[in-house]
Amino acid sequence: MKISIDIDNTLTRYPEFFSVTAIMLQQWGHKVGILTGRTKENVPDGPWDFVIACTVEESKPYTTDEQKAREWKPKMIREHNIDIHYDDYAYEILKGDVGNCKVVQVV
Ligand SMILES: [Mg+2]
Repeated sequence: MKISIDIDNTLTRYPEFFSVTAIMLQQWGHKVGILTGRTKENVPDGPWDFVIACTVEESKPYTTDEQKAREWKPKMIREHNIDIHYDDYAYEILKGDVGNCKVVQVV
């Protein structure tokens, strides 16, 4: 499976949990990476198999983080065939078309 993790208020809220979980899932053959509205240079180092970050150019149409979660993230989830995504804005992402992805709300 391909599993992605948001950074702000998700990875930053539970850094040890997500880092350890990522390594365990990778040992079982899954791909674990980051899907964030941040730009690539603002992604912290970690055991990530992939990083999907938002470029400054891609950010331009979106005026709020909620809007970016609703519109940009579902598009990335579909384009990159993400199976499971963890995010504090899951309820916004689920307003978009995420295909068969399971989007998990992190609180
Ligand atoms: Mg977030």
